Amino acid sequence: MSTVIPHWLDKQADLSPDETAVEWKDGTTVTFSQLAENSREKARKLAAADVTKGDHVAVLSGNSIEMIETIHACSYLGAVAVLLNMRLTAFERKQQMEDAEVTLLVAEAEEEALTEIKQLTFEKLNQLKASPHMQLLEEIELSDVFTMMYTSGTSGFPKAVQHTYENHWWSATSSSLNFGKHNDDKWLIPLPLFHVSGLSTMLKGIIYGMPIYLLEKFDVEDVHDAIMNKEVTIASVVTVMLQRLVSYLGESSYPESFRCMLLGGGPAPESLLQQTKAKQIPVFQSYGMTETASQIVTLSPRDALRKVGSAGKPLFPAQLKIRGQQANEVGEILVKGPMVTPGYYNRPEANEKSFLNGWLATGDVGYLDEEGFLYVVDRRSDLIISGGENIYPSEIENILLQIEGIREAGVTGLTDKEWGEIPVAFVVTDKMITKEEILSFLKDKLARYKHPKEIHYMDQLPRNAANKLVRQALKNYR
Ligand code: ATP
Ligand code: MG
Repeated sequence: MSTVIPHWLDKQADLSPDETAVEWKDGTTVTFSQLAENSREKARKLAAADVTKGDHVAVLSGNSIEMIETIHACSYLGAVAVLLNMRLTAFERKQQMEDAEVTLLVAEAEEEALTEIKQLTFEKLNQLKASPHMQLLEEIELSDVFTMMYTSGTSGFPKAVQHTYENHWWSATSSSLNFGKHNDDKWLIPLPLFHVSGLSTMLKGIIYGMPIYLLEKFDVEDVHDAIMNKEVTIASVVTVMLQRLVSYLGESSYPESFRCMLLGGGPAPESLLQQTKAKQIPVFQSYGMTETASQIVTLSPRDALRKVGSAGKPLFPAQLKIRGQQANEVGEILVKGPMVTPGYYNRPEANEKSFLNGWLATGDVGYLDEEGFLYVVDRRSDLIISGGENIYPSEIENILLQIEGIREAGVTGLTDKEWGEIPVAFVVTDKMITKEEILSFLKDKLARYKHPKEIHYMDQLPRNAANKLVRQALKNYR
Protein backbone atom coordinates (compact mmCIF):
# COMPACT_ATOMS: atom_id res chain seq x y z
CA MET A 1 0.00 0.00 0.00
CA SER A 2 1.22 3.43 -0.88
CA THR A 3 1.93 6.08 1.77
CA VAL A 4 -0.54 8.95 1.97
CA ILE A 5 0.29 12.41 3.34
CA PRO A 6 -1.70 15.65 3.52
CA HIS A 7 -1.40 17.77 0.38
CA TRP A 8 1.96 19.41 0.96
CA LEU A 9 1.04 22.92 -0.14
CA ASP A 10 -2.10 22.98 2.05
CA LYS A 11 -0.02 21.65 4.91
CA GLN A 12 2.61 24.36 4.54
CA ALA A 13 -0.10 27.01 4.14
CA ASP A 14 -1.48 25.78 7.45
CA LEU A 15 1.89 25.65 9.23
CA SER A 16 3.38 28.88 7.84
CA PRO A 17 0.52 30.87 6.30
CA ASP A 18 2.19 34.29 6.31
CA GLU A 19 5.74 33.20 5.58
CA THR A 20 7.23 33.97 2.18
CA ALA A 21 7.02 31.15 -0.35
CA VAL A 22 8.45 33.00 -3.37
CA GLU A 23 10.44 36.22 -3.60
CA TRP A 24 11.33 38.15 -6.76
CA LYS A 25 14.16 40.55 -7.40
CA ASP A 26 11.82 43.56 -7.40
CA GLY A 27 10.91 42.70 -3.81
CA THR A 28 7.49 41.20 -4.62
CA THR A 29 6.63 38.20 -2.46
CA VAL A 30 3.94 35.54 -2.28
CA THR A 31 3.08 33.79 1.00
CA PHE A 32 2.33 30.10 1.38
CA SER A 33 -1.36 30.77 2.03
CA GLN A 34 -1.66 32.97 -1.08
CA LEU A 35 0.16 30.37 -3.15
CA ALA A 36 -2.13 27.60 -1.92
CA GLU A 37 -5.25 29.67 -2.48
CA ASN A 38 -4.23 30.73 -6.00
CA SER A 39 -3.17 27.21 -6.94
CA ARG A 40 -6.47 25.79 -5.72
CA GLU A 41 -8.32 28.42 -7.72
CA LYS A 42 -6.32 27.43 -10.80
CA ALA A 43 -7.13 23.79 -10.14
CA ARG A 44 -10.85 24.62 -10.27
CA LYS A 45 -10.28 26.45 -13.53
CA LEU A 46 -8.38 23.52 -14.96
CA ALA A 47 -11.30 21.35 -13.91
CA ALA A 48 -13.58 23.70 -15.83
CA ALA A 49 -11.35 22.98 -18.84
CA ASP A 50 -12.13 19.27 -18.28
CA VAL A 51 -8.86 18.26 -16.64
CA THR A 52 -9.37 15.23 -14.42
CA LYS A 53 -7.25 12.77 -12.46
CA GLY A 54 -4.56 11.12 -14.51
CA ASP A 55 -4.65 13.67 -17.35
CA HIS A 56 -1.36 14.94 -18.74
CA VAL A 57 -1.18 18.73 -18.77
CA ALA A 58 1.81 20.32 -20.52
CA VAL A 59 3.21 23.49 -18.97
CA LEU A 60 5.30 25.78 -21.16
CA SER A 61 6.67 28.87 -19.49
CA GLY A 62 9.66 30.78 -18.26
CA ASN A 63 9.98 31.03 -14.47
CA SER A 64 6.82 32.72 -13.23
CA ILE A 65 4.28 32.53 -10.44
CA GLU A 66 1.64 31.45 -12.97
CA MET A 67 3.80 28.49 -13.86
CA ILE A 68 4.28 27.48 -10.23
CA GLU A 69 0.56 27.75 -9.53
CA THR A 70 -0.28 25.68 -12.61
CA ILE A 71 2.07 22.90 -11.52
CA HIS A 72 0.47 22.81 -8.05
CA ALA A 73 -2.99 23.08 -9.58
CA CYS A 74 -2.35 19.80 -11.41
CA SER A 75 -1.58 18.13 -8.09
CA TYR A 76 -4.93 19.19 -6.60
CA LEU A 77 -6.63 17.30 -9.44
CA GLY A 78 -4.27 14.33 -9.56
CA ALA A 79 -3.20 15.39 -13.05
CA VAL A 80 0.40 15.05 -14.27
CA ALA A 81 2.29 18.25 -15.13
CA VAL A 82 4.51 17.72 -18.19
CA LEU A 83 7.17 20.44 -18.17
CA LEU A 84 8.39 21.52 -21.58
CA ASN A 85 11.69 23.20 -22.37
CA MET A 86 11.15 26.73 -23.74
CA ARG A 87 14.34 26.45 -25.80
CA LEU A 88 13.01 23.64 -27.96
CA THR A 89 11.48 24.47 -31.32
CA ALA A 90 7.67 24.41 -31.60
CA PHE A 91 8.05 21.24 -33.68
CA GLU A 92 10.07 19.50 -30.97
CA ARG A 93 7.63 20.61 -28.28
CA LYS A 94 4.73 19.22 -30.28
CA GLN A 95 6.56 15.93 -30.67
CA GLN A 96 7.07 15.76 -26.91
CA MET A 97 3.44 16.60 -26.18
CA GLU A 98 2.30 13.82 -28.48
CA ASP A 99 4.80 11.40 -27.03
CA ALA A 100 3.68 12.26 -23.49
CA GLU A 101 0.00 11.95 -24.48
CA VAL A 102 -0.79 15.48 -23.35
CA THR A 103 -4.45 16.56 -23.60
CA LEU A 104 -4.07 20.22 -22.64
CA LEU A 105 -1.25 22.73 -22.95
CA VAL A 106 -1.08 25.67 -20.55
CA ALA A 107 1.46 28.23 -21.73
CA GLU A 108 2.60 31.79 -21.21
CA ALA A 109 1.96 32.49 -24.90
CA GLU A 110 -0.12 30.92 -27.64
CA GLU A 111 1.57 27.96 -29.34
CA GLU A 112 1.32 27.60 -33.10
CA ALA A 113 0.25 24.53 -35.06
CA LEU A 114 -1.56 22.50 -32.42
CA THR A 115 -4.66 20.78 -33.67
CA GLU A 116 -5.23 17.69 -31.56
CA ILE A 117 -4.14 19.23 -28.27
CA LYS A 118 -6.23 21.90 -26.56
CA GLN A 119 -4.37 24.94 -25.34
CA LEU A 120 -4.87 27.79 -22.92
CA THR A 121 -2.60 30.71 -22.18
CA PHE A 122 -2.30 31.68 -18.51
CA GLU A 123 -4.43 34.66 -19.35
CA LYS A 124 -7.21 32.55 -20.87
CA LEU A 125 -7.04 30.07 -18.03
CA ASN A 126 -7.51 32.91 -15.55
CA GLN A 127 -10.57 34.11 -17.44
CA LEU A 128 -12.33 30.75 -17.11
CA LYS A 129 -15.02 30.43 -14.51
CA ALA A 130 -13.81 28.08 -11.80
CA SER A 131 -15.84 24.93 -11.06
CA PRO A 132 -16.98 25.91 -7.55
CA HIS A 133 -18.02 22.44 -6.38
CA MET A 134 -14.97 20.66 -7.64
CA GLN A 135 -13.64 18.45 -4.85
CA LEU A 136 -9.89 19.07 -4.76
CA LEU A 137 -7.52 16.43 -3.46
CA GLU A 138 -6.61 16.91 0.19
CA GLU A 139 -4.09 14.12 0.28
CA ILE A 140 -1.15 13.06 -1.77
CA GLU A 141 -0.58 9.44 -2.58
CA LEU A 142 3.21 9.31 -2.71
CA SER A 143 3.43 6.60 -5.36
CA ASP A 144 1.41 8.68 -7.87
CA VAL A 145 3.20 10.36 -10.75
CA PHE A 146 3.25 14.15 -10.29
CA THR A 147 5.51 15.49 -13.03
CA MET A 148 7.18 14.43 -16.24
CA MET A 149 10.06 16.11 -18.01
CA TYR A 150 12.36 15.13 -20.81
CA THR A 151 16.03 14.29 -20.56
CA SER A 152 18.25 16.71 -22.46
CA GLY A 153 18.78 14.38 -25.39
CA THR A 154 22.56 14.59 -25.21
CA SER A 155 23.07 10.94 -26.00
CA GLY A 156 20.07 10.33 -28.23
CA PHE A 157 16.40 11.13 -28.44
CA PRO A 158 15.05 12.77 -25.23
CA LYS A 159 13.01 10.46 -23.01
CA ALA A 160 10.13 11.45 -20.73
CA VAL A 161 11.10 10.85 -17.12
CA GLN A 162 8.22 10.31 -14.69
CA HIS A 163 8.61 11.70 -11.18
CA THR A 164 6.35 10.49 -8.42
CA TYR A 165 5.56 12.62 -5.35
CA GLU A 166 7.77 10.18 -3.53
CA ASN A 167 10.72 10.92 -5.81
CA HIS A 168 10.37 14.65 -5.11
CA TRP A 169 9.79 14.05 -1.41
CA TRP A 170 12.97 12.02 -1.05
CA SER A 171 14.94 14.37 -3.25
CA ALA A 172 14.01 17.21 -0.87
CA THR A 173 14.55 15.28 2.35
CA SER A 174 17.84 13.70 1.32
CA SER A 175 19.16 17.09 0.31
CA SER A 176 18.24 18.49 3.73
CA LEU A 177 19.88 15.53 5.47
CA ASN A 178 23.04 16.56 3.66
CA PHE A 179 22.96 20.37 3.84
CA GLY A 180 20.89 20.69 7.00
CA LYS A 181 17.80 22.87 7.10
CA HIS A 182 18.31 26.27 8.68
CA ASN A 183 15.49 28.53 9.79
CA ASP A 184 16.85 31.48 7.84
CA ASP A 185 17.40 29.57 4.59
CA LYS A 186 16.45 31.23 1.32
CA TRP A 187 17.31 29.31 -1.84
CA LEU A 188 18.11 31.12 -5.06
CA ILE A 189 16.92 29.58 -8.34
CA PRO A 190 18.51 31.13 -11.44
CA LEU A 191 17.78 27.95 -13.43
CA PRO A 192 14.60 27.17 -15.37
CA LEU A 193 11.82 25.40 -13.49
CA PHE A 194 11.38 23.15 -16.52
CA HIS A 195 14.71 21.51 -15.63
CA VAL A 196 14.85 19.15 -12.71
CA SER A 197 17.24 21.31 -10.68
CA GLY A 198 14.81 24.25 -10.74
CA LEU A 199 11.68 22.18 -10.20
CA SER A 200 13.15 20.18 -7.32
CA THR A 201 14.26 23.35 -5.53
CA MET A 202 10.83 24.91 -5.97
CA LEU A 203 9.35 21.82 -4.29
CA LYS A 204 11.95 21.92 -1.50
CA GLY A 205 10.55 25.36 -0.72
CA ILE A 206 7.10 23.83 -0.16
CA ILE A 207 8.32 20.82 1.81
CA TYR A 208 10.74 22.79 4.03
CA GLY A 209 8.56 25.88 4.41
CA MET A 210 11.45 27.87 2.95
CA PRO A 211 11.34 30.93 0.67
CA ILE A 212 12.76 30.56 -2.80
CA TYR A 213 14.28 33.57 -4.53
CA LEU A 214 13.26 33.11 -8.12
CA LEU A 215 14.92 34.77 -11.11
CA GLU A 216 13.32 34.73 -14.52
CA LYS A 217 16.70 33.84 -15.92
CA PHE A 218 20.36 33.79 -14.99
CA ASP A 219 21.92 37.23 -14.86
CA VAL A 220 25.29 37.57 -13.15
CA GLU A 221 24.42 40.93 -11.56
CA ASP A 222 21.08 39.69 -10.23
CA VAL A 223 22.59 36.55 -8.73
CA HIS A 224 25.43 38.54 -7.19
CA ASP A 225 22.98 41.06 -5.75
CA ALA A 226 20.77 38.30 -4.32
CA ILE A 227 23.70 36.71 -2.51
CA MET A 228 25.21 40.00 -1.31
CA ASN A 229 22.06 41.91 -0.35
CA LYS A 230 18.98 39.70 -0.28
CA GLU A 231 19.93 37.20 2.41
CA VAL A 232 20.08 34.24 0.08
CA THR A 233 21.82 31.36 1.89
CA ILE A 234 21.90 28.68 -0.84
CA ALA A 235 22.11 28.93 -4.63
CA SER A 236 21.92 26.29 -7.35
CA VAL A 237 24.19 26.93 -10.34
CA VAL A 238 25.91 25.19 -13.25
CA THR A 239 29.61 25.56 -14.06
CA VAL A 240 29.43 28.48 -16.53
CA MET A 241 27.33 30.46 -14.05
CA LEU A 242 29.84 29.88 -11.28
CA GLN A 243 32.68 30.94 -13.57
CA ARG A 244 30.94 34.21 -14.30
CA LEU A 245 30.05 34.81 -10.67
CA VAL A 246 33.62 34.25 -9.56
CA SER A 247 35.00 36.82 -11.98
CA TYR A 248 32.23 39.25 -11.11
CA LEU A 249 32.99 38.88 -7.40
CA GLY A 250 36.53 40.15 -7.97
CA GLU A 251 38.29 40.88 -4.68
CA SER A 252 35.08 40.92 -2.62
CA SER A 253 33.67 37.98 -0.74
CA TYR A 254 30.19 36.68 -0.09
CA PRO A 255 28.57 37.18 3.33
CA GLU A 256 29.19 34.45 5.88
CA SER A 257 25.49 33.64 5.94
CA PHE A 258 25.78 32.37 2.35
CA ARG A 259 26.41 28.72 3.14
CA CYS A 260 26.06 26.65 0.01
CA MET A 261 26.67 27.02 -3.71
CA LEU A 262 25.24 23.82 -5.17
CA LEU A 263 27.01 23.09 -8.43
CA GLY A 264 25.49 20.54 -10.80
CA GLY A 265 25.00 19.51 -14.38
CA GLY A 266 28.58 18.66 -15.22
CA PRO A 267 32.17 18.54 -14.03
CA ALA A 268 34.01 21.58 -12.65
CA PRO A 269 37.54 22.43 -13.78
CA GLU A 270 40.17 22.32 -11.03
CA SER A 271 41.24 25.93 -11.66
CA LEU A 272 37.70 27.08 -10.88
CA LEU A 273 37.64 25.09 -7.63
CA GLN A 274 40.97 26.65 -6.61
CA GLN A 275 39.53 30.10 -7.25
CA THR A 276 36.39 29.41 -5.25
CA LYS A 277 38.50 28.06 -2.40
CA ALA A 278 40.64 31.22 -2.40
CA LYS A 279 37.48 33.32 -2.26
CA GLN A 280 35.98 31.05 0.41
CA ILE A 281 32.90 30.24 -1.65
CA PRO A 282 31.30 27.11 -0.17
CA VAL A 283 30.92 25.06 -3.35
CA PHE A 284 29.18 21.68 -3.15
CA GLN A 285 29.76 19.75 -6.37
CA SER A 286 27.10 17.27 -7.34
CA TYR A 287 26.13 14.54 -9.76
CA GLY A 288 22.61 13.80 -10.79
CA MET A 289 20.27 13.60 -13.73
CA THR A 290 16.64 14.07 -14.61
CA GLU A 291 16.07 10.42 -13.65
CA THR A 292 17.28 11.02 -10.06
CA ALA A 293 15.07 14.10 -9.48
CA SER A 294 18.22 16.30 -9.06
CA GLN A 295 21.45 15.55 -7.20
CA ILE A 296 22.04 12.03 -5.91
CA VAL A 297 25.77 12.44 -5.14
CA THR A 298 27.46 15.49 -3.58
CA LEU A 299 30.90 16.59 -2.49
CA SER A 300 31.24 18.97 0.42
CA PRO A 301 33.70 21.89 0.33
CA ARG A 302 35.62 20.09 3.11
CA ASP A 303 36.68 17.42 0.61
CA ALA A 304 36.65 19.57 -2.53
CA LEU A 305 40.38 19.98 -2.99
CA ARG A 306 41.43 16.70 -1.40
CA LYS A 307 39.16 14.98 -3.94
CA VAL A 308 39.50 17.24 -6.95
CA GLY A 309 37.45 15.93 -9.84
CA SER A 310 35.15 13.87 -7.63
CA ALA A 311 31.39 14.38 -7.45
CA GLY A 312 31.36 13.05 -3.87
CA LYS A 313 29.33 10.36 -2.14
CA PRO A 314 25.72 9.25 -2.60
CA LEU A 315 23.15 11.01 -0.41
CA PHE A 316 21.89 9.24 2.71
CA PRO A 317 19.06 7.13 1.20
CA ALA A 318 20.89 6.47 -2.08
CA GLN A 319 23.24 3.73 -3.18
CA LEU A 320 25.79 3.66 -5.94
CA LYS A 321 28.00 1.04 -7.49
CA ILE A 322 30.14 0.57 -10.54
CA ARG A 323 28.88 -2.29 -12.67
CA GLY A 324 31.04 -5.35 -12.03
CA GLN A 325 34.12 -3.36 -10.97
CA GLN A 326 36.45 -3.01 -7.97
CA ALA A 327 37.81 0.22 -6.44
CA ASN A 328 39.44 2.53 -8.99
CA GLU A 329 38.19 0.56 -12.00
CA VAL A 330 36.12 2.38 -14.58
CA GLY A 331 32.66 1.04 -15.42
CA GLU A 332 29.04 2.06 -15.76
CA ILE A 333 27.58 3.97 -12.79
CA LEU A 334 24.50 2.32 -11.26
CA VAL A 335 22.33 4.17 -8.75
CA LYS A 336 19.43 3.19 -6.54
CA GLY A 337 17.25 5.14 -4.17
CA PRO A 338 13.76 6.47 -3.51
CA MET A 339 14.43 9.61 -5.60
CA VAL A 340 15.06 7.53 -8.73
CA THR A 341 12.26 7.58 -11.31
CA PRO A 342 10.03 4.52 -11.61
CA GLY A 343 10.71 4.68 -15.35
CA TYR A 344 10.46 6.48 -18.68
CA TYR A 345 6.98 7.08 -20.00
CA ASN A 346 5.95 4.73 -22.82
CA ARG A 347 9.48 3.44 -23.40
CA PRO A 348 9.44 -0.26 -22.55
CA GLU A 349 12.74 -0.88 -24.33
CA ALA A 350 14.58 1.95 -22.62
CA ASN A 351 13.13 0.83 -19.30
CA GLU A 352 14.25 -2.72 -19.84
CA LYS A 353 17.76 -1.54 -20.69
CA SER A 354 18.08 1.01 -17.88
CA PHE A 355 16.55 -0.74 -14.88
CA LEU A 356 18.30 -3.78 -13.48
CA ASN A 357 16.87 -5.25 -10.26
CA GLY A 358 15.98 -1.86 -8.87
CA TRP A 359 19.21 -0.21 -10.04
CA LEU A 360 19.26 2.52 -12.69
CA ALA A 361 22.02 2.14 -15.24
CA THR A 362 22.93 5.80 -15.75
CA GLY A 363 24.73 5.54 -19.08
CA ASP A 364 27.64 7.35 -17.44
CA VAL A 365 30.95 5.72 -16.71
CA GLY A 366 33.09 6.44 -13.68
CA TYR A 367 34.93 4.88 -10.76
CA LEU A 368 34.94 4.89 -6.96
CA ASP A 369 38.17 5.47 -5.09
CA GLU A 370 39.16 3.50 -1.95
CA GLU A 371 37.16 5.88 0.23
CA GLY A 372 34.03 5.53 -1.88
CA PHE A 373 34.18 8.90 -3.65
CA LEU A 374 32.72 8.91 -7.14
CA TYR A 375 34.61 10.17 -10.17
CA VAL A 376 32.43 10.59 -13.24
CA VAL A 377 34.53 9.91 -16.32
CA ASP A 378 32.19 10.29 -19.28
CA ARG A 379 29.11 9.05 -21.03
CA ARG A 380 29.34 5.44 -22.04
CA SER A 381 27.94 6.17 -25.51
CA ASP A 382 30.78 8.62 -26.24
CA LEU A 383 33.55 6.12 -25.52
CA ILE A 384 36.07 5.80 -28.35
CA ILE A 385 37.84 2.47 -28.84
CA SER A 386 41.01 2.90 -30.82
CA GLY A 387 43.32 -0.03 -31.48
CA GLY A 388 41.68 -1.83 -28.53
CA GLU A 389 42.35 1.07 -26.12
CA ASN A 390 39.52 2.95 -24.42
CA ILE A 391 39.58 6.71 -24.90
CA TYR A 392 37.25 9.06 -23.03
CA PRO A 393 36.59 12.26 -25.00
CA SER A 394 36.26 14.34 -21.82
CA GLU A 395 39.86 13.61 -20.87
CA ILE A 396 41.08 15.07 -24.16
CA GLU A 397 38.62 17.98 -24.00
CA ASN A 398 39.75 18.91 -20.48
CA ILE A 399 43.35 19.16 -21.63
CA LEU A 400 42.47 21.11 -24.77
CA LEU A 401 40.59 23.58 -22.57
CA GLN A 402 43.78 24.25 -20.61
CA ILE A 403 45.27 25.85 -23.73
CA GLU A 404 44.93 29.60 -23.51
CA GLY A 405 42.64 30.82 -26.27
CA ILE A 406 40.62 27.60 -26.62
CA ARG A 407 37.15 28.51 -25.44
CA GLU A 408 35.27 25.31 -26.26
CA ALA A 409 36.40 21.82 -27.22
CA GLY A 410 34.57 18.70 -28.32
CA VAL A 411 36.01 15.31 -29.19
CA THR A 412 34.39 12.37 -30.93
CA GLY A 413 35.46 9.11 -32.56
CA LEU A 414 35.50 8.48 -36.30
CA THR A 415 35.63 5.12 -37.98
CA ASP A 416 39.08 4.20 -39.20
CA LYS A 417 40.22 1.21 -41.24
CA GLU A 418 43.39 0.66 -39.30
CA TRP A 419 42.41 1.53 -35.71
CA GLY A 420 38.67 0.89 -35.66
CA GLU A 421 38.10 4.43 -34.39
CA ILE A 422 40.24 7.54 -34.06
CA PRO A 423 39.71 10.61 -31.84
CA VAL A 424 38.98 13.85 -33.69
CA ALA A 425 38.84 17.29 -32.02
CA PHE A 426 36.68 20.34 -32.72
CA VAL A 427 37.65 23.64 -31.11
CA VAL A 428 36.33 27.17 -30.81
CA THR A 429 39.18 29.61 -30.29
CA ASP A 430 39.48 33.23 -29.18
CA LYS A 431 42.70 33.72 -31.11
CA MET A 432 44.81 32.05 -33.77
CA ILE A 433 46.25 28.77 -32.49
CA THR A 434 47.88 26.38 -34.95
CA LYS A 435 47.39 22.63 -34.95
CA GLU A 436 51.10 22.23 -34.26
CA GLU A 437 50.79 24.39 -31.14
CA ILE A 438 47.86 22.32 -29.92
CA LEU A 439 49.60 19.01 -30.52
CA SER A 440 52.79 20.19 -28.89
CA PHE A 441 50.78 21.16 -25.77
CA LEU A 442 49.27 17.66 -25.64
CA LYS A 443 52.62 15.94 -26.14
CA ASP A 444 53.60 15.21 -22.54
CA LYS A 445 50.07 15.35 -21.12
CA LEU A 446 48.31 12.67 -23.12
CA ALA A 447 49.36 9.25 -24.38
CA ARG A 448 50.04 9.25 -28.09
CA TYR A 449 47.00 7.15 -29.04
CA LYS A 450 44.75 9.78 -27.43
CA HIS A 451 46.07 12.63 -29.57
CA PRO A 452 43.36 13.86 -31.94
CA LYS A 453 44.13 12.75 -35.48
CA GLU A 454 42.29 15.75 -36.89
CA ILE A 455 41.62 19.19 -35.41
CA HIS A 456 38.77 21.27 -36.81
CA TYR A 457 38.16 24.96 -36.08
CA MET A 458 34.52 25.89 -35.52
CA ASP A 459 32.53 29.05 -34.80
CA GLN A 460 30.41 27.13 -32.33
CA LEU A 461 29.84 23.54 -31.21
CA PRO A 462 26.52 21.70 -31.60
CA ARG A 463 24.54 22.03 -28.37
CA ASN A 464 21.09 20.91 -27.33
CA ALA A 465 18.32 22.89 -25.62
CA ALA A 466 20.04 22.32 -22.27
CA ASN A 467 23.16 23.92 -23.78
CA LYS A 468 25.04 20.63 -23.56
CA LEU A 469 27.56 19.57 -26.16
CA VAL A 470 26.15 16.88 -28.47
CA ARG A 471 29.28 14.95 -29.36
CA GLN A 472 27.56 12.55 -31.74
CA ALA A 473 26.55 15.55 -33.89
CA LEU A 474 30.20 16.58 -34.26
CA LYS A 475 30.68 13.74 -36.73
CA ASN A 476 28.63 15.74 -39.29
CA TYR A 477 30.90 18.78 -39.06
CA ARG A 478 34.01 17.42 -40.72
P1 ATP B 1 20.02 12.29 -22.33
O1 ATP B 1 19.79 11.39 -21.16
O2 ATP B 1 18.79 12.49 -23.14
O3 ATP B 1 21.21 11.92 -23.14
P2 ATP B 1 21.22 14.14 -20.46
O4 ATP B 1 21.75 12.90 -19.80
O5 ATP B 1 22.21 15.20 -20.82
O6 ATP B 1 20.36 13.76 -21.73
P3 ATP B 1 20.19 15.31 -18.04
O7 ATP B 1 19.37 14.42 -17.20
O8 ATP B 1 19.83 16.76 -18.11
O9 ATP B 1 20.11 14.78 -19.51
O10 ATP B 1 21.70 15.29 -17.59
C1 ATP B 1 22.26 14.34 -16.71
C2 ATP B 1 23.67 13.99 -17.14
O11 ATP B 1 24.57 15.12 -16.96
C3 ATP B 1 24.31 12.87 -16.36
O12 ATP B 1 23.84 11.60 -16.72
C4 ATP B 1 25.78 13.11 -16.67
O13 ATP B 1 26.13 12.60 -17.94
C5 ATP B 1 25.88 14.64 -16.70
N1 ATP B 1 26.37 15.10 -15.38
C6 ATP B 1 25.64 15.54 -14.33
N2 ATP B 1 26.43 15.84 -13.28
C7 ATP B 1 27.70 15.58 -13.66
C8 ATP B 1 28.98 15.69 -13.01
N3 ATP B 1 29.12 16.13 -11.78
N4 ATP B 1 30.06 15.32 -13.74
C9 ATP B 1 29.96 14.87 -14.99
N5 ATP B 1 28.80 14.75 -15.65
C10 ATP B 1 27.67 15.10 -14.99
MG1 MG C 1 20.82 11.06 -19.49
